[in-house]
Amino acid sequence: MTFATLGLIEPLLRALETLGYQTPTPVQAQAIPAVLAGRDLMAAAQTGTGKTAGFALPLLQLLTMEGPKVAANSARALILCPTRELAEQVHASVAEYAQHLPLTTYAVYGGVSINPQMMKLRKGVDILVATPGRLIDLFRQNALKLNQLQTLVLDEADRMLDLGFSEELANIYRMLPKKRQILLFSATFSDDIRLLAGQMLNDPLSIEVSPRNVAANTVKQWVVPVDKKRKPELFVHLMRKGRWKQVLVFAKTRNGVDALVDKLQGLGINADGIHGDKPQATRQRALDRFKTSEVQILVATDVAARGLDIEDLPLVVNFDLPIVAEDYIHRIGRTGRAGNTGEAISLVCADEVNMLSAIEMLTRQTLTRKMEADFEPEHRVPDTDASGQVVKKPKKPKKPKASGGGGKRNLGKWVDSGDVAPAEPSIKPVRKVPVFNTGPRKKK
Ligand code: AMP
Repeated sequence: MTFATLGLIEPLLRALETLGYQTPTPVQAQAIPAVLAGRDLMAAAQTGTGKTAGFALPLLQLLTMEGPKVAANSARALILCPTRELAEQVHASVAEYAQHLPLTTYAVYGGVSINPQMMKLRKGVDILVATPGRLIDLFRQNALKLNQLQTLVLDEADRMLDLGFSEELANIYRMLPKKRQILLFSATFSDDIRLLAGQMLNDPLSIEVSPRNVAANTVKQWVVPVDKKRKPELFVHLMRKGRWKQVLVFAKTRNGVDALVDKLQGLGINADGIHGDKPQATRQRALDRFKTSEVQILVATDVAARGLDIEDLPLVVNFDLPIVAEDYIHRIGRTGRAGNTGEAISLVCADEVNMLSAIEMLTRQTLTRKMEADFEPEHRVPDTDASGQVVKKPKKPKKPKASGGGGKRNLGKWVDSGDVAPAEPSIKPVRKVPVFNTGPRKKK
């Protein structure tokens, strides 16, 4: 099968040729004809499987072939993304695919000044990529109307709910014209999302390219059991031993990210961090420098877990396991993309056994454990398996504490994952499901 046989027009085929895309990926093969036929879509695909082109290519074609010229302060297609980085990335891909088409594209998100965005929207744009919060702000300031909207794409829809955007989504839904196409994309589909899709979509075609909640099999995964306090030291040890060149590291909290970055920089290691407390420009710069290998180690909270495409990233390390098991799939999906292989290593302490068990149950696999010599934990990580069972062994009597600091290390500024820093919104375990009704708006 080729992109031409899917019915794509010549300017798109030319752009794909420049990008070196030869064959459609499975999600593209299914999504492109369905979107061209005007269907609503609910698509589940693994991360890194080419979802973006799956919705962007047919969308660009429809906008080129159909519909009136875009009006002032309007958009003809809206792509909603959960994070600013993802919005930037999706916009960059859309702009590449659209390079030979007479269409305008733009991305808006929070954390940067709204005024240039309002100015840019004055003339209207054909395709607007946005995060939900900023979109609502622009709407409230009369900078944007949605009455000309032909298509709405929800990228990483479950993540948007996790991040607490349910009310924004419900508001956006109420502003949509009656006749429109909605495409809902996500790497994982919870029951909440299925419910949401049922309320929002019109006779959707359901595409499930890969089994539900399974990590890409191009990623080799294993776990290294370790005591919580020795994680920084183990990380540095593994890094040196494995001569790691480019690693994306996930930590649970913002403080955790900063502490690990400080520690690594203190050792002369080229590391940077991104999390929700940092200004958007700093986040983007760190990410760009990591992508071009100017930065060797990028430490991040789950703000970086979804959607980000880092070419040929060989390794992801979970310094802490994610609280929400689905985030594990997204995190490790940053490697092993576009047919490449990758590795994902998780440093797991006894406190995290329930998270490990939840991940194994979700991904239906028991993760291999590899003990690292000299780092065997004093606090054993109980056995787990894909059935969700945690095998508790009877407690051993406590050993008397060794004096003189044998085994204890100087932890410097390290703050362990038990600190009380505010967690990223992305690790909220509770998810609100919006109810989309067409009745009057609730006053806040
Ligand atoms: P995505 O899942 O949309 O983030 O895409 C993952 C990566 O695969 C990106 O680097 C895309 O440029 C690349 N990609 C998407 N579709 C294809 C294709 N058909 N052939 C080759 N590479 C692709």
